[in-house]
Amino acid sequence: MADSKPLSPKPLAGKRILVGNDDGIHAPGLKALEEVAHSLSDDVWTVAPEVEQSATSHSLTTRRPLRLRRFGERRYAVDGTPTDCVVVAVAHLLKDQRPDLVLSGFNHGANLGEDVGYSGTVAVAMEAALFGIPAIAMSQQREHEQPVDFTPARTLAGDIIARLFTEDWPRDLLVNVNFPPLAPEAVKGVRVGRQGRRDTQIGVVEGADPGGRPYLWIGDFLRHHSADGDSDLGLVARGYVSVTPLHLDHTHHDGLERLRGLLG
Ligand code: MN
Repeated sequence: MADSKPLSPKPLAGKRILVGNDDGIHAPGLKALEEVAHSLSDDVWTVAPEVEQSATSHSLTTRRPLRLRRFGERRYAVDGTPTDCVVVAVAHLLKDQRPDLVLSGFNHGANLGEDVGYSGTVAVAMEAALFGIPAIAMSQQREHEQPVDFTPARTLAGDIIARLFTEDWPRDLLVNVNFPPLAPEAVKGVRVGRQGRRDTQIGVVEGADPGGRPYLWIGDFLRHHSADGDSDLGLVARGYVSVTPLHLDHTHHDGLERLRGLLG
């Protein structure tokens, strides 16, 4: 990738960074992101789910207590969701000095298009945005049925984070970054694009367990990636790192006038 510049020593020195994810405290992608965070600042904290919480979206645990377990200096796990971890970190553990930046990832697999609505990785950034903290969710796409190689994310993320982070981060902005499964030198560059949409169909597979009891297993099928070049899907498919600004307001703005017309 040609537009990657060497980083100055600790470009976010003095900034407090909180690292989270949805794959859990033991996930290799988390360790890779922690390495990147330490290359940016010395003040790095990790609060991550104790076990994998992928596709738990922005869920919050309110009907049972949470346990906070210390895994090392400035490393903690919560037996809850990715969102619980952000709340515990910001409203409890780091309440006297809140993070300046929240990083989520590196997720084991892409979070593109409609994945955003299911993603616990993106939800970490959403929760940070609700606290008014700049937040970047980062995911490493994998080749079909291959183990995830975090080399592209690990190599390229530090520069992207340092370039994205600003003191005047817009309110409610969160940023969703996806890395293509290419050797870093083969990545074409970094491009900003909108959230895309797959021609996908979520479905259910029926089977039976070893005792003969039927089960249903949700999966998604018929994944034809549109070649829509400006979307996150199109950019990553063409070998770019995609960067998509997201916000918390789910309002369908055209729908405002339409519904006003219907309801008066
Ligand atoms: Mn995940």
